[in-house]
Amino acid sequence: MSASGTTSNSSLTPLRPQNAERFRCTGPDCEDTCCKSWNIFIDRDTYKKYRNASENPLRVLAGAGLKRVSGADPLRYASIKLNQEGFCPFFSPDRLCSIQKDYGEAWLSKTCAQYPRSRSIVGGVQEETLLLSCPEAARLVLLDPEFFAVSSAQGLTELPPGIAPPSLVLLAAMRNFSILLIRDRRYALWERLFLLSLLCKRLEALIVQKAAERIPQLLAETVQAVEGGSLQAVLQAVPLRTEIQVKVMLVLLDSLQARSRHNKRLAECVQDFAAGIGYGQSKMASDLTENYTQAFRQWYAPWVASHEHVLENYLINYVFAHLFPFVPRSEERMSPWREARLFCLQFGLVRGLLAGMAGHYCMEFSVECALKLIQSFSREVEHSASFLRRVDDLLIHYGLDGSDGVAALLRDPA
Ligand code: SF4
Repeated sequence: MSASGTTSNSSLTPLRPQNAERFRCTGPDCEDTCCKSWNIFIDRDTYKKYRNASENPLRVLAGAGLKRVSGADPLRYASIKLNQEGFCPFFSPDRLCSIQKDYGEAWLSKTCAQYPRSRSIVGGVQEETLLLSCPEAARLVLLDPEFFAVSSAQGLTELPPGIAPPSLVLLAAMRNFSILLIRDRRYALWERLFLLSLLCKRLEALIVQKAAERIPQLLAETVQAVEGGSLQAVLQAVPLRTEIQVKVMLVLLDSLQARSRHNKRLAECVQDFAAGIGYGQSKMASDLTENYTQAFRQWYAPWVASHEHVLENYLINYVFAHLFPFVPRSEERMSPWREARLFCLQFGLVRGLLAGMAGHYCMEFSVECALKLIQSFSREVEHSASFLRRVDDLLIHYGLDGSDGVAALLRDPA
């Protein structure tokens, strides 16, 4: 990462996701169809279109097949009642959507037509990010070694004074810095995330103090510190606390297992993880920590050394899809520090589950295992405000909601 740049601050623009137009649904070949086990929302316009349709099946759908959703969100006006097996009633035996097949794409609801693309307006421009809960989207994003291979921190040291959320310049600066740092392989991946979380914590402090005029200086100092390596001492001082990582993973595992009743792929991954760390044969924290550390060192670390782009792409896609660190969440004020904690913990869970799975599969552990875990985890967790609230409460309960706690959760056991 270079701290020098020639782009003037007034022309600092956000990096934007680019691969959504390459997506093609695999239809009948999909291993985890979006037409199952999900709340499928129907927008108001589509609902009315179905109700007035001359085609009988669509009118039937609008009558008995939909339930109205309370609230004023026109995109979530109604939802489809799933059948007993948990499928959308229009999911046909040939594993295709019969609305699309029989009437054409124009008859799909906005949710169905858009998925797995997530749309946001950033600086007046519509962006599309692929959601990793779709297996084909996950393949497209995670397996691409060239996905956002950016190499310069242009403009990040020359920001104007007084930038504050929700300004586009601040979003652009934080996004561009996040992506550059996630790609900076001079640091271990956990170190990159930890450094990013420290920046978010200081950023939030300035926002709370209403000291936005100091944000450009904070960003410039952080870029220089990362570039110059002056934070190495901080990173090296992070103590190894693998036992707390395992403890948090096991607590959340219970919650994940309950949620994964309808998510067979995630349930299988959780079982593989449990087998990989010997959970069941022993429930002693010391045994499980030792097994986890062994799996991490012997099987996960060598695999990730040659597949680092998979996890980097996962993180970069998250930054785009959630507008990190200014994640809009209903009824809550934006909090870059809370978002950084949640981001770090989700990464910690994904990495920990992968390490346990690697311990189970040993030589057979492959990129397919990683795809399956990240896709099924994203499907169950990333869009669940309730799960994320539980995660944050857990961090607070264990006193892990400060920088030391985040460091403890992140540090590699190897
Ligand atoms: S999950 Fe993705 S690939 Fe599978 S059916 Fe849905 S859009 Fe198509």
